[in-house]
Amino acid sequence: MQVIDGKLVAKLTREDIAKQVAALPQDTLGKIGLAVILVGDDPASQVYVRNKINGCAEVGITSTLVKMPADSTQEEVAEKIKALNADPAVNGILLQLPVPKHLDEAALLHLIDPAKDVDGCHYVQKGKLWTGEPELIPCTPYGVIKLLDHYSIPIEGKSAVVVGRSNLVGKPLAQLLLDRNATVTICHSRTKDLGEVTSRADIVCVAIGKAKFLKADMVKEGAVVIDVGMDRDENGKLCGDVDYVEVAPKCAYITPVPGGVGPMTVTMLLQNTVKAYRLQKGLDK
Ligand code: NAP
Repeated sequence: MQVIDGKLVAKLTREDIAKQVAALPQDTLGKIGLAVILVGDDPASQVYVRNKINGCAEVGITSTLVKMPADSTQEEVAEKIKALNADPAVNGILLQLPVPKHLDEAALLHLIDPAKDVDGCHYVQKGKLWTGEPELIPCTPYGVIKLLDHYSIPIEGKSAVVVGRSNLVGKPLAQLLLDRNATVTICHSRTKDLGEVTSRADIVCVAIGKAKFLKADMVKEGAVVIDVGMDRDENGKLCGDVDYVEVAPKCAYITPVPGGVGPMTVTMLLQNTVKAYRLQKGLDK
């Protein structure tokens, strides 16, 4: 069994991104910039936003944190997004999720200029992904593929099961695996005999938000298990959707939590910001 070291892959990928940033013609085309909008003061979101801002500094991206009060109206957040859309110094815009309940999250996400949609949430970016022309790919699924590739884990021809069908993780991850010629099954809360489905898979990805849900009898010997979950166990300790202690001995590869998929999410946001800049400046087609 080999543990997939997300911290290491994230570090190596960030070193590569820093080189990509250093090679950009920023003197002539302007600096590369990411704006992160944080509405409210949710403690977890504050940590995620800080990681994103620090990640930008690490690779040489100029970041702007736009903090808005928790009682901001739909119109106020919409106006802020429109202003950032129009700002040439901003190449990427990220609206930190979740937004406070009184706001229409989907409507706000779809206001972001698709060319600056570094979280890959806009219909246009989703459409590109779904039609086999991915451009700005949702960061967490993108990070999962990067991890599989780093360890040269074959995807083509493999049977892959994705448990969870959210727009942010499950669905785009299934699409990316399909693009790489896996035979993909998507499971969700109404799936019957879920363990029977997962136990036939070569690659099992779990993104459901249920602590230690995937047990040893739900995976086959030699499977690759990717745990996207970020949960708390009975003692309040961070854990994933996979019962790691039980499942790991059966796996060929497995991601731990923490230190697996998590570090890749911010990293791929940085990669998407570079990509958005390159596209906006005509450096890529
Ligand atoms: P979400 O939007 O709440 O979606 C959860 C999905 O899991 C839904 O499709 C739901 O099915 C399915 N599900 C729930 N209970 C299930 C069960 N008992 N059996 C089978 N399927 C079940 O969650 P998300 O945003 O995708 O996030 C999932 C997890 O990943 C969370 O722990 C989150 O914190 C974590 N996450 C981590 C990162 C990272 O960077 N590591 C990034 C994003 C998310 P239905 O559709 O039928 O309701």
